[in-house]
Parts: sequence; C-alpha cells; structure tokens
Amino acid sequence: MSDPTAPANLSGAAWWHANQARYPDNSAIADLEPGFRTKVESFLAALAKANATVHISATRRNPVRGALMHWAYKLSKGKVKAKDVPAIPGCDIDWVHADEEASQKAAQEMVSLFRIVYPPAHPSMHYKGLAIDMNISWTGTLKIAGADGTVVEIGTPLNGASNTDLHAVGKGYGVIKLLKDKPHWSSDGH
Ligand SMILES: [Zn+2]
Repeated sequence: MSDPTAPANLSGAAWWHANQARYPDNSAIADLEPGFRTKVESFLAALAKANATVHISATRRNPVRGALMHWAYKLSKGKVKAKDVPAIPGCDIDWVHADEEASQKAAQEMVSLFRIVYPPAHPSMHYKGLAIDMNISWTGTLKIAGADGTVVEIGTPLNGASNTDLHAVGKGYGVIKLLKDKPHWSSDGH
C-alpha cells in the first residue's frame, strides 16, 4: 500500500491513478494529422471491405504521457538514476524515493499500469498524429484491394504484425509498418 504521508507528486501507482487521466491517449482516427489520416482511412476501408478484424489502441499520443512512459520504463530497468530523470514540462512528478530500489519499484508500478510492452519511442511519431497502433487479423485468405485497386491475396501469418505481404499493401496506401513494434504503423515507418 502507498504511504499516506508521501508527497502527492511522488511517482508510483498512487500518482498514476491520481494523474494519468490528465494526459490521455487518443485512439480516434479523427485525432490523426489530416494528411496521414486520409491514408489511414483508405487502408482501413480496404481492410474492412476484406473482412479483416482491426483493433485500434492508439493514434495521437499526449507528449506528457509519452515522456512519463519513456522515463518510467528506463528508470524501472535501472537505465537512468531517479535523480537524473529530466523534468517533464506541464507535469509535477518526483521520481526520487528513499533509495534507488524504491524509485525503480515505483517506476515499475507505472510501467505496469501504462501496460508498456515495448520500450516506448520518445519522441514518438504518435505525438504528431503520424502513427497508429492497431492489431489486424483475419481468417483464411485476405483478399484486399491495394491502393491501385488491384486485389492482392494474402495468406499466413494471419496478422498485421508479421505479414510482410500486408505490410506492402499498407505501404501502398502510405501507412508503413515498423517491424519491431507489433501494432505500430506510421507515415514513415518510425
Ligand atoms: Zn505506436
């Protein structure tokens, strides 16, 4: 349990619950940068027509949230000392606990609550509305129209994370896969 006498800005699970909603992630297509949004909409329309299942988890990310995720992750892994985490403009958080182990443990609580699986990019294409996180899956053969209208037949693997044929189709629409980050697609592949 958290210490009721701890300062309100001390990092950890209690801080996350009290403050995270001030820095929300957006998952609406409407929040994307307009040029990229058009490309994503075309790609999603083709996927829908092909009966693929698409779950979108993030589009434009709040930069404060992104910075919190980045530094919480690094600190939890001991890759930065708590006292060396830079201030995040617009965010009151103190990462320094009684000792480094406690600081890392508090950071790990936040990593878990943020549901961070991969080291978060910082700065990120999400801050500019130029990236989308989505899981794509289908059954059987996906018959999807490319940007030029030609229908491409795509088999296994049956998911958007690792199917390079689908990545090629996405690229045609201007939605480019970052291979190392399973749900991440962006305007330039970063
Ligand atoms: Zn992403």
